[in-house]
Amino acid sequence: MVTVKAMSSDELFQNWLTNADIKTLEKFFKKKKVDFKREHVSAVETVQEVSKFIVIYFEKNIKEALAGKQKQTMESANVKDLEKIRFYDFGNKQVNLESWKGEKEVPMFNTINNVKCSKCGGAGGIKCKNCGGSGTVKCGTCDSTGKISCRTCKGSKTVEYKLEILDADGKKYSGSKKAPCPDCHGQGAHTCSDCSGLQKIRCKSCDSSGQISCEECKGTGVLFEYAVAPVPFIMSKKDAEVYYSKDVEKFIDKQSVEDLLNAKDIQGIIVINSDDLKEDKLKPELNFWTKESSKNCDEAKKDYKDYVKKGIVKSGTKIMVLPALQLECKAVNGKEFQIFGIGVSGSFVVLDSKFN
Ligand SMILES: [Zn+2]
Ligand SMILES: [Zn+2]
Ligand SMILES: [Zn+2]
Ligand SMILES: [Zn+2]
Repeated sequence: MVTVKAMSSDELFQNWLTNADIKTLEKFFKKKKVDFKREHVSAVETVQEVSKFIVIYFEKNIKEALAGKQKQTMESANVKDLEKIRFYDFGNKQVNLESWKGEKEVPMFNTINNVKCSKCGGAGGIKCKNCGGSGTVKCGTCDSTGKISCRTCKGSKTVEYKLEILDADGKKYSGSKKAPCPDCHGQGAHTCSDCSGLQKIRCKSCDSSGQISCEECKGTGVLFEYAVAPVPFIMSKKDAEVYYSKDVEKFIDKQSVEDLLNAKDIQGIIVINSDDLKEDKLKPELNFWTKESSKNCDEAKKDYKDYVKKGIVKSGTKIMVLPALQLECKAVNGKEFQIFGIGVSGSFVVLDSKFN
């Protein structure tokens, strides 16, 4: 195990001093009655506290992850299905691919368009096949006559009454008399109770409307067309991801750190397997470790794996772990500022905060 050669706080301070803006230096460090010179600034007098932290860095590949992979397609849905679809409206905002949880293409609310249903021609209904659109069908009970033959007179309209008659000799004989049927009142038939004599009954298929609701458009006559379009991802210039402690984030923003690390070839610990981002692998090489280091490792590891899945990071991309120094400084004018160095002895980047 080779330990990386740590930069010293003095090495960092001198590097910073050499490059610091002379006017600002003078404002911060000039003593009364003395002509100011860069060399007057002393590390020993200025640096109040030194602390160590780690910076984790790996390159991303957003443009390639999305290039040619997002497509727009048109879909259509009826009213019922429309309610089940989740639509998006990004306004004129863009979203970060890294934090996006959904699909790369989504239904867009502002693309919804009403179109005529082609199956029913926009009518919403289709002529009922059962009744031919009339809404009624023949009455089967009366065979479409409106009448039912009378059971009592069997349609003969009259009923015969048998009479017993005695003649002069006392002999019986029988006779009969006819009278109109009392049940049908001499009509021979009743009005059909199913159709009330109308010879037709309601068509059950279409509930007598003469039309069947169009399945395609659920009776509305319209369908909704919409675009499943690419999510507007930020095609950021950000081509790397950096991690370091929240305490340091207060002073220096990630973009500046990233830009500096991108611009310079900094030496550090190279990790190929993100699972090696942990204390027992890194501490022996760094010679220090903090709680924050563990947090940074966990966060970087989680993102790295997620990004590889999403194609944002190419599988096998090297992860760089860099030791870093924070110098808490106090100037002659009483102002406090911070100097940060990221990298190893002879190969590091320098940033400062509140020195202006
Ligand atoms: Zn239709
Ligand atoms: Zn009938
Ligand atoms: Zn009758
Ligand atoms: Zn019908």
